[in-house]
Amino acid sequence: MTQSQTDNSAILLENVTYRFSADAPVVLSVPAWEVQRREKIFLQGESGSGKSTLLALLAGLQTPGTGEVTVLGTALSALSARKRDRFRAQNLGVVFQQFNLIPYLSVLDNVLLAARFGETDAAASKQRAADLLQRVNLSSDLHQRKAAQLSIGQQQRVAIVRALINSPSLLLVDEPTSALDHANRDAFLTLLFDVLAERDCAMVFVSHDPAIGQYFDSKVRVSDINRAEGEG
Ligand code: ADP
Ligand code: MG
Repeated sequence: MTQSQTDNSAILLENVTYRFSADAPVVLSVPAWEVQRREKIFLQGESGSGKSTLLALLAGLQTPGTGEVTVLGTALSALSARKRDRFRAQNLGVVFQQFNLIPYLSVLDNVLLAARFGETDAAASKQRAADLLQRVNLSSDLHQRKAAQLSIGQQQRVAIVRALINSPSLLLVDEPTSALDHANRDAFLTLLFDVLAERDCAMVFVSHDPAIGQYFDSKVRVSDINRAEGEG
């Protein structure tokens, strides 16, 4: 693998396997997978097929048993746990299935909490957070509202803003639309692509729902890249 090859890819997996413990079955076995910089990928797979586990490996939240995960030209195995945390904060945006907002903090503070890791200029962070919130149609009267008092659709948009606040080069999104009806799901995806169009950001969006594939040029099935026997 030459340096220029890894530099051009947002994600490169080589001979990656993962199991949750020594006597547990292998849930992921990916001989090779590459995502280009700025590419937006829809990764579809049944429940239990390893989607969330794969995102955890890409985010450096889990470490593969064998093989190498290279993200934005950096081999994650070469980083200490602390440096991996820093790398994630500075380069990745992650939207988890449950959004993981802090319920007793305001909308703005939920976003600023993520901004602290990436930036030291508080006033600039605050301005960027407010701009981005506006950008996803969360008007300023909502910025001081506690996250616990938001609708699912509003929480989801705060989670996207939080993931984008440090201008990541890779966005990892885990089934954020599973609790939404079709109209809200479509509105959300349109908005997400709108916001991303202005950015140099790759995305891996995982879902069990094949209908979401219509929004993506690049579609991959988990079973196409994962050789492990799934339960799904
Ligand atoms: P998906 O996100 O596609 O639904 P997951 O990545 O959550 O799939 O799970 C993949 C497989 O790993 C499933 O068989 C699941 O039961 C198993 N698994 C997930 N999390 C754990 C865990 N913390 N400990 C043990 N097994 C797990
Ligand atoms: Mg999952």
